[in-house]
Amino acid sequence: MSRYRLQPTPAQEAVLAEHCRHARYVWNLAVEQRSFWWPGRGGAPGFAEQCRQLTEARAAHPWLAKGSIIVQQQALKDFAQAMANFFGGTHERPTWRKRGHSEGFRIVAVKADDVRRLSRHAGEVRVPKVGWVRFRWSRPVPAGVKSYRVTRDRSGRWHVAFAALPASIPAPGNGAVVGVDRGVVVSAALSTGELLTVAPLRQTEQARLRRLERRLARAKPGSVRRAKVKAALARLKACRKDRRKDWVEKTSTDLARRFDVIAVENLKIAAMTRSTRGTAEKPGRGVRCKAGLNRGILAGGWGLLVARLEHKAPGRVVRVDPAFTSQRCSACGFVDRRARESQARFRCRSCAHAEHADVNAARNIAHAAGHAVAAREGPRNTGPVHREPHPVLLTA
Ligand SMILES: [Zn+2]
Repeated sequence: MSRYRLQPTPAQEAVLAEHCRHARYVWNLAVEQRSFWWPGRGGAPGFAEQCRQLTEARAAHPWLAKGSIIVQQQALKDFAQAMANFFGGTHERPTWRKRGHSEGFRIVAVKADDVRRLSRHAGEVRVPKVGWVRFRWSRPVPAGVKSYRVTRDRSGRWHVAFAALPASIPAPGNGAVVGVDRGVVVSAALSTGELLTVAPLRQTEQARLRRLERRLARAKPGSVRRAKVKAALARLKACRKDRRKDWVEKTSTDLARRFDVIAVENLKIAAMTRSTRGTAEKPGRGVRCKAGLNRGILAGGWGLLVARLEHKAPGRVVRVDPAFTSQRCSACGFVDRRARESQARFRCRSCAHAEHADVNAARNIAHAAGHAVAAREGPRNTGPVHREPHPVLLTA
């Protein structure tokens, strides 16, 4: 995805907001429809059936019919994808969309002449029912754009993101396998010993974030002051999010270029974050100790990193069962739950091997992936002799 700052006129902004409203309405209808469904009740309506229902709804509600059908259909498509992600275990169940939160819509069937350059720093994109909308030409628009997404973030900025799947990066062909462990303190540890971190907010920015959060807590609900503080806070958080995305792009490209096989933990992030639900009065189990971990996982953008790796290195990403990767010694293979001395330190009590706990885990992940690849390929000449995957470390 390459994102550009959209610069709509006030009149265009009104129509864009209308598109957002329709997309949100249709999405919420789909959520509601799903909430009436439970396992054993027969198939819930799929995308095709929902599109048929949308046609009926448009016939019944002129205000909906006035909007763009592409916007509305794509909201259903997004929902179908969100449900697929939920069943795949990588995402939470899709929920209601609220006004002002992650607003946006997608346009498909984009033709080559729907995007054009005006000057060195300006371009235009054709949006149905809106017309040509200017955007900042901050970098080249990828060739062969088939769809784009228009979004409005919480600080009121509009963006357009052109979707062109990144070209897959050819494997280096060096046979190198790397294990990547998602970290809490560091964002990712590699089995090569490298520790990668997302560039965090600068110290001054962090201080400003805390100051704004305190000010927000004191501001009277509904006051102008509160709205201002909220907007400033949203801008700062958007900046942090941009840096995280940037890190994911660079890291995934780098890994795809350097290694033939990239092994990651088969983490069900949704499953891990779910257990922290609960209220202040009735906290869920392990809420306190998990809150920090969740922040780490989310801040690290782990799910996004794995998704990008799969785009850039298709067929070269191996998912490994995370069981014991943090307890096994990568030097001698001894599994010991007390070997992890602290968050960062691993010391084997069998062979005295000691290293960064996340790097140790990354080495175990690479080790398990090595077995997986060997088991999949098998010795070519002699026929498959040993096809058994490692009994403990492997799923798939
Ligand atoms: Zn050991």
